[in-house]
Amino acid sequence: MTSSHQFKEFLNTFVPAVAAKSRQANKAVWILETTGAADAADLKAELDTALRMLFNDRKTYEKLLAWDREPLDPLLKRQLNVLIRTFKQNMIPQPLLEEIAQKEAALSQVYATYRPEIKGKKVSENEIRELLKNENDVAARKLAWEASKEIGSILAPRILELVALRNKAAQSLGYCDYFTMQLDLQEVDANWLQATLDDCACSSAPAYREVMKEVQQQLSHRFHVPAEQLGPQIGPWAWSEPFCQEDPLDCQELDTLVDHIDIPAVSRGFYQKMGIEVHPILERSDMFERPGKNQHAFCINIDRSGDVRTLNNVKSSIKWLETVLHELGHAIYDVGYDPQLPWLLKEPPHMITTEAMALIAGRQAYRYASLKHLLNAPEKEPLMKKAEVSLKRRQLIFSRWVLVMTAFERELYKEPAQDLNTLWWGLVEKYQQIPAPQGRQGKNDWAAKYHIGLAPVYYFSYLLGEMFASDIENALLKATGSVEISTPQAGEFLHKKLFIPGNRMSWSALVEHVSGKPLCPKAWVSQFS
Ligand SMILES: [Zn+2]
Repeated sequence: MTSSHQFKEFLNTFVPAVAAKSRQANKAVWILETTGAADAADLKAELDTALRMLFNDRKTYEKLLAWDREPLDPLLKRQLNVLIRTFKQNMIPQPLLEEIAQKEAALSQVYATYRPEIKGKKVSENEIRELLKNENDVAARKLAWEASKEIGSILAPRILELVALRNKAAQSLGYCDYFTMQLDLQEVDANWLQATLDDCACSSAPAYREVMKEVQQQLSHRFHVPAEQLGPQIGPWAWSEPFCQEDPLDCQELDTLVDHIDIPAVSRGFYQKMGIEVHPILERSDMFERPGKNQHAFCINIDRSGDVRTLNNVKSSIKWLETVLHELGHAIYDVGYDPQLPWLLKEPPHMITTEAMALIAGRQAYRYASLKHLLNAPEKEPLMKKAEVSLKRRQLIFSRWVLVMTAFERELYKEPAQDLNTLWWGLVEKYQQIPAPQGRQGKNDWAAKYHIGLAPVYYFSYLLGEMFASDIENALLKATGSVEISTPQAGEFLHKKLFIPGNRMSWSALVEHVSGKPLCPKAWVSQFS
């Protein structure tokens, strides 16, 4: 029997087992994130471990490596590549695998159910954000901001345990640490990533300085403090959310754009104009706030055969319009793969490519041309133009936030024993140019950010996704004569070029397939700075 036959036979028995276990694990995630139930956390950990154990067999791994030395057709070769990378990260002792899965599940349960208190009253993340958006009393803002950081000290010891275990796993595979291993297994070259992020930081630095000047002026005016005292006196709680990762200007006013708007319905209408019906996705989704439920938003592909769902906590704000459009962007990507693709390749080659789709969709919540159609409210057109101005600020501000997160994670895994809160604020000062407030020594503000504990070595995908999104808009302009994505032509272009291939090629090859050139910050920089 040829290698090709042997490998095909292996796939015929192995993949159905993986598909079944993965569907169960995804359903456990869904129950956990929508309820916060402890049983669901246990079940998720058990299923995660069971799934990973399928990829833990040394003999199979060696067979895969042997097949990889033989000539195979490209589709088989790519499946082999996916399997080898998945096996590799699971070639660690079972007790270690189990411990990581249990600790991650327990962490996400704490994350889903914890609500901080302000003056004895439990508050949700949405409530803290509302307060930071609307409150003019500086002392009340400070209390809310501090409350948002409380979870950091609860989670920090648990996250550090996980960091140690993740590093131990990476080192057992010959990597210096988990960050390096993750990049390698995600087909991202560490030096290229560093150079690309540096390039992006450098070439948009003057534009960011301008944005910061404007932000400082307007915030100091709003809170009646001289601009130069804004940092020490008001600190990060002058911004509209806890991490200063979003544009803090004009938020209240921009939110009035979506007053009396049914955000899920408007989003559905948006995708209908692309020729894509998202009603079945929305039917399966969990859209509104509830105690015990994960307070963030995500999209999950339960079974790679059409059961795609999103989780949201929709409120009447432009941010939630952006988020619903964003998550549905992931969802249409996941239902858009070539149905003929083998199960293993019905996924994006990297989160960068699906983020790009989600981010383009999210941008429409701030684009004048899109808002005009979405909201159908001619009297609000001047405000829609303001939203478009804010998009540029948002992009620049968010880019700095990604730089902080990526640099922090790199250092965290390199040297977990260092003073992490000092590292954190140092990076905030360096990239975001926001001074550290007094009295944060000994705190764990870094651990309050969800992704540090639970979506590790992911954040850079957002900025690379934004860069790719700008490349895609250029490609759309060439192919359809417009950057507008809410048209059947754009829908078809995205479906054919971006979704259909799934994981049949690497993410960098897919970028070139769609935009005609390798990923770089150029298009994003010229669009937003
Ligand atoms: Zn996303």
